[in-house]
Amino acid sequence: MAFEQPLIRPPSEWRSGLIRVTRGCGWNRCRFCGIYPHLGEPAFSIRPLREVLADVAFLHHHRPETETLFLGDADPLQAGVATIAELSRHLHQMFPLRRLTAYARASTLKKIGRDGVLQLAAAGLNRIHLGLESGSDEILRYQRKGQSARMIREAAGWPREGRIEPEIESGNFTPQTAEGTVLELQLLLRHLTVEGPFLTCDHANNYISVRGTLPQDRPSMLETIDAFLSQPASVRERHYQEISSSM
Ligand code: SF4
Repeated sequence: MAFEQPLIRPPSEWRSGLIRVTRGCGWNRCRFCGIYPHLGEPAFSIRPLREVLADVAFLHHHRPETETLFLGDADPLQAGVATIAELSRHLHQMFPLRRLTAYARASTLKKIGRDGVLQLAAAGLNRIHLGLESGSDEILRYQRKGQSARMIREAAGWPREGRIEPEIESGNFTPQTAEGTVLELQLLLRHLTVEGPFLTCDHANNYISVRGTLPQDRPSMLETIDAFLSQPASVRERHYQEISSSM
């Protein structure tokens, strides 16, 4: 039996041990995506727990000091609360973990329910990446995201209640300009009223990179953006071209 790894992981998990719980995406219908079929995983399946545990044993044999682990692929919580909770507890027993992360869909959180999410938090799952994409129902419908703004608002609050860190991604079906993404980030930073979350632009295709905890790091992040935007348009355009050509 070969060791299997998730096909995709968040950029922040580049040093993490990667555990594949499910294969591909169970939804696979978002208009802008198609990434798993493109990478050769057209169907969704849940791996038997004994296979996953064999991979965990392999990882432990080679990297017992691992402090961060990521569960993939796109929707591992589809394996069920009991399975993920058992796996999470096992991983915390095996490794000196400070972070256990998974991707999740808002609709899966909704299916699991608040109690299920809190059970997972209690078992040690402490970070979830949710692809929110938009707060507009019209855009979500057009993009076939399979979730509504109301569902996101409800389900995205449960991880925080269980002290699981959400990370937030946003987007729009109308192609945004490079400068538009920088202005959106500026607007977002000016108006976010939440306290405590860590905001980071840690992907190679982000046109500007700021990171910090809100609200205390807001001024320095805005200063970085203001300084960038105060450069001549030709300089900014050259920067956007350089980032685009490195994608
Ligand atoms: S849920 Fe995520 S992985 Fe699945 S199709 Fe949509 S964007 Fe792609």
